[in-house]
Amino acid sequence: MAAEIEGRKKRGNAGYQVAKAIREGVLPKLDGSISCVDCGKPARDYEHRDYNYPLQVEPVCRGCNRRRGPGIPYKKPHPAAALMNVGQFKAAALLDVG
Ligand SMILES: [Zn+2]
Repeated sequence: MAAEIEGRKKRGNAGYQVAKAIREGVLPKLDGSISCVDCGKPARDYEHRDYNYPLQVEPVCRGCNRRRGPGIPYKKPHPAAALMNVGQFKAAALLDVG
């Protein structure tokens, strides 16, 4: 299914963006000194709630990452997005979810 393939590509890209951000020092390295935002154990992963925002991540441990499940898949921009400003587009994107 095309949408599913698109979603997988975006997840891959989101992971790449995070790895790049860590390499460049934009995000701190998860070396055990950063705590999971959910339970306080050492965080192992940066978790995405929304793959449309590849750098909007939270440090979580493996268990909490699994518990949280997958994030919101990438959605193609709304066709009318070009006519709207960014704030309105965000509202349109939220209405689109579900
Ligand atoms: Zn945790």
